[in-house]
Amino acid sequence: MHRCIQCLQPIHETLTVFNFYRPREQFCQSCQKQWETVTLDLNSRRCPRCLNKQTTDSDVCLDCQFLEKTFTLMSQLYCDYQYTGVMKEVIHNYKFMRDYYLAKVLASKLKPPKTSYDMIVPIPSPYERDAERTFNPVTTVLDYMGVTYINLLKTKLRPKQSQLGKIARAQASNPFYIEKEIDITNKEILLVDDIYTTGLTVHHAGEILCDKNVRKFKVFAFSR
Ligand SMILES: [Zn+2]
Ligand SMILES: [Zn+2]
Repeated sequence: MHRCIQCLQPIHETLTVFNFYRPREQFCQSCQKQWETVTLDLNSRRCPRCLNKQTTDSDVCLDCQFLEKTFTLMSQLYCDYQYTGVMKEVIHNYKFMRDYYLAKVLASKLKPPKTSYDMIVPIPSPYERDAERTFNPVTTVLDYMGVTYINLLKTKLRPKQSQLGKIARAQASNPFYIEKEIDITNKEILLVDDIYTTGLTVHHAGEILCDKNVRKFKVFAFSR
């Protein structure tokens, strides 16, 4: 029996001369529809850099303006999905309820951005340091996607960010560091994280890269 990889319901596909040689659908129609509704609408007005829904007339959104005061800004965010609906549910169940098979669901919905880079660097997970949660939700998905990456960044245990105010969070000591002695001078880095909200996490990571004289860094987020 052929089943949807997300809801595990059987998929009844009538074979015709048109779909006979096509790979079989991985998602049932109902799950497929859910994903269509959370696709990021790039036709609406958005910040050209972080794809934030624009609320002002200026070119760069308020979040980016805020980040720019403390950090070198990423050159571009690449993201295809909103962090809502099925995406939010899948990420939540995957990360916190540990439904690991959902990594496969995410991997089959995500595509690495068509852009130039010298290396892909995942944002390390604070959970990797948690004895009970030994997995990194980002690299597990990248593995299923067949994407090659370098675990360049390490993380110290972070205080729960929500307990700190906005400015305190930006100025809090950087949770990331580089352990390996790899020369990344003049390289273009694509950072990968699961959720982009304020951009603080990836810009803390970017700061470490900029200290090592990278040329620029871009960000690929599963959702925002
Ligand atoms: Zn389904
Ligand atoms: Zn922005």
